[in-house]
Amino acid sequence: MQTLTKTSRIFTETYKEGRKYLLETEAKTVCMEYEIPVTRFKLAKNEAEAVKFAEEIGYPVVLKIVSPDILHKSDVGGVIVNIKNAKEVRNAHKQILENVKKHKADAKILGVLVQEMAPSSTEVIVGAIKDPQFGPAIMFGLGGIFVEVMKDVTFRIIPITEEEAREMITEVKAYPLLTGYRNLPPADIDAIVKILLGTSKLVMDHPEIKELDLNPIMVYEKGAKTVDARIILE
Ligand code: ADP
Ligand code: MG
Repeated sequence: MQTLTKTSRIFTETYKEGRKYLLETEAKTVCMEYEIPVTRFKLAKNEAEAVKFAEEIGYPVVLKIVSPDILHKSDVGGVIVNIKNAKEVRNAHKQILENVKKHKADAKILGVLVQEMAPSSTEVIVGAIKDPQFGPAIMFGLGGIFVEVMKDVTFRIIPITEEEAREMITEVKAYPLLTGYRNLPPADIDAIVKILLGTSKLVMDHPEIKELDLNPIMVYEKGAKTVDARIILE
């Protein structure tokens, strides 16, 4: 008998609730099952719990709205970063709920996500889409202007080999930034390779994934952390 993975259970649950978008908590749980590193997180049901979780995780933390009706959290004032103590957690918690109420009064709110704040570093993005002709494809690029303005990204058909993952990283024009530049330390290329392979496997295992977006991923000298993860189902 096949044991149901966490990922399958999450997808089933998502469909059952009539949703196609995974919550950040769900998307990050899926990532963890495929060894894609994410920021530590805990879902708080109220202000007191938010403070408790922030203390457990350790400051600074980030607070984010968790709602099935909100896909772009910062658009509704649903993300507050760099929270440094209990008082700031309480203020941020109130502020987020207030912002969301103002922007989207009817949004169903499941709680506020407390998460570890990933120190800023070189940002990369990994995505997956379905090409109508070639099927599932994986994308890699550096974050921010490199993707948005320069369209400096590269694609491969899934599944990819480790060799292809390494090629993807070295062939983007911004690659030199990953080898150490000015005050930026060299990035952990092996950590990115692992994320690309994990993403490839996840999409192979689950054809019901329509779109996946790990954006941004902070890459450090040692290791990497996915800060925001979006998964959209067919
Ligand atoms: P949105 O749904 O608006 O895309 P994100 O979760 O991406 O929300 O948060 C918006 C931005 O806030 C991110 O792009 C990133 O710059 C910053 N951010 C979010 N979470 C973290 C974190 N854990 N550590 C550091 N920065 C973060
Ligand atoms: Mg985001």
